[in-house]
Amino acid sequence: MNRYEKSQKLFEEAKDLLPGGVNSPVRSFKSVDMTPIYTEKGKGSRIFDVDGNEYIDYVLSWGPLIVGHAHDAVVSKLKEVMEKGTSFGTNVEYENELAKIVIDRVPSIEKVRMVNSGTEATMSALRLARGYTGRDKILKFEGNYHGHGDSLLIKAGSGVATLGLPDSPGVPKSIAQNTITVPYNDMESVRYVFEQYGDELAAVIVEPVSGNMGVVPPVNDFLQNLRKITEDHGTLLIFDEVMTGFRVGYNCAQGHFGVTPDLTCLGKVIGGGLPVGAYGGKKEIMQRIAPEGDIYQAGTLSGNPLAMAAGIATLNQLTEESYDAINEKADRLVEGLQEAAKEYGVPLQVNRAGSMLGFFFTDEEVINFEKAQTSDLKWFATYYRLMAEQGIFLPPSQFEGMFLSTEHTMDEIEQTIEAARNAFKKYNK
Ligand code: PLP
Repeated sequence: MNRYEKSQKLFEEAKDLLPGGVNSPVRSFKSVDMTPIYTEKGKGSRIFDVDGNEYIDYVLSWGPLIVGHAHDAVVSKLKEVMEKGTSFGTNVEYENELAKIVIDRVPSIEKVRMVNSGTEATMSALRLARGYTGRDKILKFEGNYHGHGDSLLIKAGSGVATLGLPDSPGVPKSIAQNTITVPYNDMESVRYVFEQYGDELAAVIVEPVSGNMGVVPPVNDFLQNLRKITEDHGTLLIFDEVMTGFRVGYNCAQGHFGVTPDLTCLGKVIGGGLPVGAYGGKKEIMQRIAPEGDIYQAGTLSGNPLAMAAGIATLNQLTEESYDAINEKADRLVEGLQEAAKEYGVPLQVNRAGSMLGFFFTDEEVINFEKAQTSDLKWFATYYRLMAEQGIFLPPSQFEGMFLSTEHTMDEIEQTIEAARNAFKKYNK
């Protein structure tokens, strides 16, 4: 019996309609050689596919759903707002409400601009950094993914890494040559670049915890050192917290690590499952954005009432204690998987920041993209399918992180460890 029969039919149909059958590449499940599932509904920590399979979900829409699927508070707020109309092209009160929460919780943000995706946030932040400093070059890190803007689609992570497409055709050389890339966590290379180009660098953009080559946290005061060197050269430090924002902790990664960037990009959790991104920072920099200043950026649906409401309802669920509770579950998951891997001789490296978890099947410590690539991708694909068959939904790529929500229970964590144990038994067989 094919447990993915309906999904398979839908995917066959989609292949004639959408490039690769999908609207975002990693959804094709190409790297794990499996039928991509079509989800019918989700509730709490669970999703249900069109074939009636039920999964404990560790993808959570690639991060946004930190309070789980269809949370009652989010759904009822959305219903209330939707009844009054979906978009107006004028200001709505919810924009102020979400902005206040963001400014209150994100140390670097004094003023914020809402956009519709993480990609828009990073593209806009780069334009602002370039306009503000009057410089063109930027420095980014190999395996960091900042959306698909031209300047940033260079040696990127996420789907780009999964599909092995480090430099996409269509990005003009003239743009690419202004983007310098060096390995993550490698201050020596950063110093070398600053020696060569220090006065030309508008910004260093970094995922404060990298989540797009699998999860790779900063080591050896990497963020502190980036803060210092950028300050010394009049270069802006941009934290891309699209994934880490309100995920790694109540005050985002910057609160967690105690490093305050000049600009911060947000997305995912801030939209509670609706399309929202944002960028913000010091007033002195943000005031350059039009109409207060001269650097242009706009959006028909920016600050959309439904999107703002979903973000507000989500962020209002989260307290410092919620993060402690999620972290406890993450601790147990890591411990259980490490024990099981040891028992069956599976090489496993675990990286973690809060409820972002990365598992690599390698003996090497993973501190950058090169090391992430030492993971056994063939075994990952097998493991992936074995977990899916047991109702555990993981991100279908080695180069993506796994997430937990407030709704996952300890029982589900134990179930997941048991499923991994069953999968590990088949290692090398
Ligand atoms: N930045 C980071 C760190 C991300 O993880 C992502 C998406 O995964 C993006 C930017 C792009 O966001 P979006 O997919 O909403 O455009």
